[in-house]
Amino acid sequence: MMNSINLENTYTSLPPEFFRYTEAETMPDVTVITINEQLADLLNIDIGFLKSQSGLKFLSGKNSKTLPNSISLAYAGHQFGHLVPQLGDGRAVLLGDKICQDGVRRDIQLKGSGKTYFSRGGDGRAGIGPVIREYLISESMHHLGVPTTRSLAVLLTGEKVVRAEVSPGAMLARVATSHVRVGTFEFFAIRNQKDHIRKLADFMIERSHPDLSDKKEKYELFFERIVKGQASLVAQWNSVGFIHGVMNTDNTSISCETIDYGPCAFMDSYEANKVFSSIDQYGRYAFSNQSRVAPWNLSRFAETILFLISKNTSDAIKVVEKILFDFDKNFNASLDILSSRKLGFKNYSKKTSSLYSELLNLMEVGKADFTGTFKSLKETLIKEDDTIFLNNFRNMDEENQHAISQWLGAWRKLLQENSESKTEAIEFLSSSNPTFIMRNHLVENAIGKATKGDFSDFDILCDLLTMPFEIKENHDEFYKPPAASQVVHQTFCGT
Ligand code: AMP
Ligand code: MG
Repeated sequence: MMNSINLENTYTSLPPEFFRYTEAETMPDVTVITINEQLADLLNIDIGFLKSQSGLKFLSGKNSKTLPNSISLAYAGHQFGHLVPQLGDGRAVLLGDKICQDGVRRDIQLKGSGKTYFSRGGDGRAGIGPVIREYLISESMHHLGVPTTRSLAVLLTGEKVVRAEVSPGAMLARVATSHVRVGTFEFFAIRNQKDHIRKLADFMIERSHPDLSDKKEKYELFFERIVKGQASLVAQWNSVGFIHGVMNTDNTSISCETIDYGPCAFMDSYEANKVFSSIDQYGRYAFSNQSRVAPWNLSRFAETILFLISKNTSDAIKVVEKILFDFDKNFNASLDILSSRKLGFKNYSKKTSSLYSELLNLMEVGKADFTGTFKSLKETLIKEDDTIFLNNFRNMDEENQHAISQWLGAWRKLLQENSESKTEAIEFLSSSNPTFIMRNHLVENAIGKATKGDFSDFDILCDLLTMPFEIKENHDEFYKPPAASQVVHQTFCGT
């Protein structure tokens, strides 16, 4: 069905087991906190409309006669390694999808919109804290160039939501290339609904990989694309110090976008095994484990589509194993390029790769700030002043101080050997090392204020996140690593 914003709901072309028709609950007093105008433009939705009463109705998921009916999606998932046969959108409705200005079809989903068929005892609500966290971090990731779901709007519901603390209820309008997850395939695999798995794979091929649709080996190629996309995605997370925190298969997108911003965070000081999430007691989703968990999740995906790849199961296993085996190669190839650029080199070499890992080791010993250390390389090179770089490292004994100075010497020497010019190196350093990241203490401060009705920090962060490689004057405190008293050690899902 078409309407003024040309919203469809193509997912409803799938069989009824895929979703339940669900209307957002009527909330007492919905108000808009922010609308992402740049994203509204991409979606080709008139900003004037979004700010009008009809726009508010649309954003609150109250279907007018001209909009398609909203739905909640069924999915399952492996959570911390354990299969949960039925999850689904327990607090979200898919309003619909549409072709955007760039020709890509995207979903608009409303999260925190009340109970659904899949709520399983939950209240279907979201508090302002997790909504602000998702808005800030997802948009930040987008502007850093990392594939991600995006955030169109934050709304208050006029309700109070009770978690560990009572906070204002909120909703997030989320935009994704699709909301299909590994867990969506698992949902039908558990129920042995092979025909539904085929339909879902075809739906995703048509939507995101139409060039494969006529190919004889389309399912194998489809799987390979997703493995490569996830490998590249996790490499990009690592290159900006991002920890997802809850890489369950229901949070693993078939569109290879970062999805579900729960206890996620960017690292301040570098720690290979850093964990923020309060529920990740054994470090399953630690920073350095992300590139191991992703192929584990993809193996769960592979299991659901073996029969599509070959009628002979052992043949199919051989095919997917080969593709999965290449995950590491793909991940390393992506990270090698990204990390070389972070050091100012155009191309990867064994030497740039070992410089990168040596630096990470030294940063861990010296409790150096991840973003700050890489950011300082540019100034160090321009001003030829080593102290700019050395100041990032704390409590270093003589041996390590010596190692850092040696590292700097080796880095300079390799730059001289490899770069076309110093200018070129400076360009790579500038464009690969953000000056602004959405640090945890900034997010927590913004949430603390927003809970009391003050959105001033949130507004500043929304502005700064759009230019992560620049520095906006008079905002010094937003660019600094946290002081010892400001460090946030743990994050919470807050569901
Ligand atoms: P998440 O931790 O956001 O990935 O959610 C995991 C599962 O729990 C999904 O099926 C969610 O829809 C569901 N869920 C999370 N919070 C709530 C809630 N407040 N009410 C109902 N379902 C929820
Ligand atoms: Mg989830």
